[in-house]
Amino acid sequence: MATLNLNAITKSFGAAQVLHDISLAIEDKEFVVFVGPSGCGKSTLLRIIAGLEEATSGAIVIDGQDVSDEHPVDRGISMVFQSYALYPHLSVYENIAFPLRVQKLGKADLDRRVQRAAEILQLTDKLHLKPGQLSGGQRQRVAIGRSIVREPKVFLFDEPLSNLDAALRGDMRVELSQLHGSLDATMVYVTHDQVEAMTMADRIVVLNGGRVEQFGTPMELYHHPANKFVAAFIGQPN
Ligand code: ADP
Ligand code: MG
Repeated sequence: MATLNLNAITKSFGAAQVLHDISLAIEDKEFVVFVGPSGCGKSTLLRIIAGLEEATSGAIVIDGQDVSDEHPVDRGISMVFQSYALYPHLSVYENIAFPLRVQKLGKADLDRRVQRAAEILQLTDKLHLKPGQLSGGQRQRVAIGRSIVREPKVFLFDEPLSNLDAALRGDMRVELSQLHGSLDATMVYVTHDQVEAMTMADRIVVLNGGRVEQFGTPMELYHHPANKFVAAFIGQPN
C-alpha cells in the first residue's frame, strides 16, 4: 500500500521559483502522469519526490508518513531515468541485480528477485546476454528491471521512452501499462507527450510554469478542461 501526498511543495533555484505551492493526493496503485511543456518543472518535482532534490518548502508524505527528511533509499521509491546507463561488460542478470549487490542482499533472495523481474519483463531467456546484444526496448526493460528488484512502493519514471523510436515507444507504452497491472504499485510518470499521458494515465497532472493547471482523469481533462491552456495542451479546440 502506498499513497503519495505532496503538500504545498515549492522550489526555488536562487531567485527563480520553479515550483509554486503544489499539493496533490495520489492514491494507492494509481498511475499518475505529470505532463507539461519542457521547463515547466516536471523533473524537478519528480526529483523532490525521490529525495534527489530538496524542496524549498512543503512536505512529501508516503502512507501518511512525512519522508521529506529521509534519504532517497529509505523512502521506498525507485526512479527510472530517460538516459539509463547499463554496464556493457556485465550480463543482463548482473545489470538487474546491481542495486541488490550494493545492498548486500543474500544470494537466494537476490536470485528470486532477479528471476521475478525478468519474468515480468520477459527477459528470462536474455539474462546471460550483454546489453550490446539487446534491442533498444529490451535495454530499457533491463533498466526498469533494476527498479523492480528493489521492490519499491512507488515507481517514478522521467520520460523513459523519449530516446526510443515511435514504433517502439508505442509498444513500450502498452508494456508499462501491463507492468503497472502486474506490480500493484503506485506509479508517477513524467512526459511532455500528451498522447502518452492520455493513453496511460489513471489521472493526469497538467503542469505549466511550475503550477498545477488541472488534476483529473483523461476524460475529465478532455471534456472539461479547467482553462484554455489545458484545452490547447490536451488538443481540444475550446
Ligand atoms: P522539465 O522537466 O519540465 O523540462 P525541469 O524540472 O527540468 O523541467 O526544470 C524546471 C525549471 O527549473 C527550468 O527553468 C530549469 O532551467 C530550472 N532548473 C532545473 N534544475 C535546475 C538547477 N539545478 N539549477 C537551476 N535551475 C534549474
Ligand atoms: Mg525533464
